[in-house]
Amino acid sequence: VTATVTPDVDALRAALTVAPGTRVDVAAVDSHATPAFDGDKAAGKAALTSLNDELSALQERLYAQHRAGIANRALLLVLQGMDTSGKGGIVRHVVGAVDPQGVDITGFRAPTDEERANGFLWRIRRALPPEGHIGVFDRSHYEDVLVVRVDGLVPEEEWQARYDLINDFEAEVAAGGTVVVKVMLHISRDEQRARLAERLDRPDKHWKYNPGDIDARRRWDDYMAAYSDALSRCSTAAAPWYVVPADRKWYARLAVAALLTAALRDLDPQWPLADFDIEEERARLAAS
Ligand code: AMP
Ligand code: MG
Repeated sequence: VTATVTPDVDALRAALTVAPGTRVDVAAVDSHATPAFDGDKAAGKAALTSLNDELSALQERLYAQHRAGIANRALLLVLQGMDTSGKGGIVRHVVGAVDPQGVDITGFRAPTDEERANGFLWRIRRALPPEGHIGVFDRSHYEDVLVVRVDGLVPEEEWQARYDLINDFEAEVAAGGTVVVKVMLHISRDEQRARLAERLDRPDKHWKYNPGDIDARRRWDDYMAAYSDALSRCSTAAAPWYVVPADRKWYARLAVAALLTAALRDLDPQWPLADFDIEEERARLAAS
């Protein structure tokens, strides 16, 4: 068996994109599949290691070019998915591969009274990554058209108006120089049952278990409908959505690493040129 070591990140990206203007039904997407990767788990893990090296080098250049004042770009990864879909694992195994100095991770929970009073995008704007950084949202403004819609937390007119508000907001973020990569980690209902059962069986996982997860699980079909609308209405050229099959954790991690690598390759960050005379500094060093 020949292991596929360097995966084709462009093929992965193409296979996972929700094409802007098209309708996606996430319930019909096979969560166990491994689109655009034909290796097994061992090959997938090897491929992740090689992508993580490239990702780390690209991130260092992104950070360096900002520090040198030659470009003001940033990258934002938005992670969405049902409970146990593996958002935390992406943060550890993919985002964890880059220098933590250049990464800002924000988890979004039910809003505080102050956040609620300021409009749903207020807390999101405040958490956007600064120039030169990679920002990661573990849940996001999409909760305001997901849990809020499924649980009827605001009247329908209010959440219906949010899709356009989100598109305008993300277009503005992209125009400001931030590349936006939005990922739905897509697991099956059966896979979620198995992962919740494991959380109940293992004392070291009890801290991750939340009885409220079962309430969301009971509304599975409503969530899939809400996800399908959010992804269909808010996948834009400026901020595309990707559906990543996530029943196999190794594939989901590889796919997200590929999406980040592809985005950073496009951004093509450059090492800053020295703003001092190298020969002169060599001479000064030799004489010191
Ligand atoms: P977790 O990410 O599993 O720790 O849980 C965070 C919880 O916060 C989830 O149940 C989300 O549905 C909830 N949450 C996040 N954003 C919002 C929001 N805008 N409105 C209501 N609930 C939210
Ligand atoms: Mg949870």
